[in-house]
Amino acid sequence: MPPVAARPDHLELPPGNEEVRRRLVALARGGRLHHCLIFEGPQGVGKADSARWLAMLVNCQGPAELLGPRTAPCGACWACKNIARGQHPDVIELGLDPDKVTPIISVEQARELLGKLTLHPFNALQRFVIVDPADALTVEAANALLKTLEEPPTRTVFVLVSARPTDLLPTVRSRSQRVRFGPVALDRVVAWLEAQGIEGAEDLALLAEGCPARARALAEGGLLAWREDRDRLLEALDGGVPDRLAWAEAHGKGDRDEVHETVDRALDALGRLLRDALVRSAGGQAPLYNADRVEVVEDWAARLGAGGIARVQLALQECRRDLAANVNTRLALDALLASVAADLGPARPGGAP
Ligand SMILES: [Zn+2]
Repeated sequence: MPPVAARPDHLELPPGNEEVRRRLVALARGGRLHHCLIFEGPQGVGKADSARWLAMLVNCQGPAELLGPRTAPCGACWACKNIARGQHPDVIELGLDPDKVTPIISVEQARELLGKLTLHPFNALQRFVIVDPADALTVEAANALLKTLEEPPTRTVFVLVSARPTDLLPTVRSRSQRVRFGPVALDRVVAWLEAQGIEGAEDLALLAEGCPARARALAEGGLLAWREDRDRLLEALDGGVPDRLAWAEAHGKGDRDEVHETVDRALDALGRLLRDALVRSAGGQAPLYNADRVEVVEDWAARLGAGGIARVQLALQECRRDLAANVNTRLALDALLASVAADLGPARPGGAP
């Protein structure tokens, strides 16, 4: 499958997880790189970019360091640039099937990949197959790849990238070596954002839970959209039954990706309001995700209490489960809001509007 859009010819790794990459360097240098790696960890910490970086490191044709063996790719040679661009013939990236309505990596894609792997690598010392997100492999696709994951063609390394590794088939997991990426210290994310001239870096880093790429995506208009969605949710909860129905109705409309994104943002907003309310109800002083709406957080803490917060968190979990199981979006959201409203009870006199 041809790359959808060419990326820049240089790779910019986000901060953090240097130790993980150092271990990969050591393994690669010792010829001990497992032929099937799972890069797992939260969304937006640079797992896929680290996979590309590893492919660059192994295949770099640039001048080696004067002192000692290579610890990083040169970034300037033909191999490095084309891997960064996503256009190296031997670094194959397998992503969601653009021809499918649901977000999957299909068995057709898996078969096409297997066809490519019957050929010898074109130019690379080591061919890489980067599957991202690997948890989107259908059971059929994963099964089609299973034998190859176990015994890949010579000079071929698979990197399965996933934020939800437990969704991978156990048979796939058992054939792989796990490499864990973690969230990054907030001050490093803040410094990284500020170096790019991004304002409000502290709020963004906190909201993105230490995932640099997510923080930057929030900066690029995502934060505004997130706050707007949260405010619409709050308005619906402050209104009556018709407002809640209208909210649920509006969130169930549009094409699949659109619905998925707005519903996801709304549920995320509710989760973070609950977390903030819990912090305040316990008298904690930890920074709030909703620092711009402290009055709402305190109102929720008072109206829900720890018991109410726990109940709404359960309802939220149930709603996510229902949606994953393809329950009608409008019905699932309506049920969730009804349950939140019931736990919130009537607005306190003199409380937030
Ligand atoms: Zn290079």
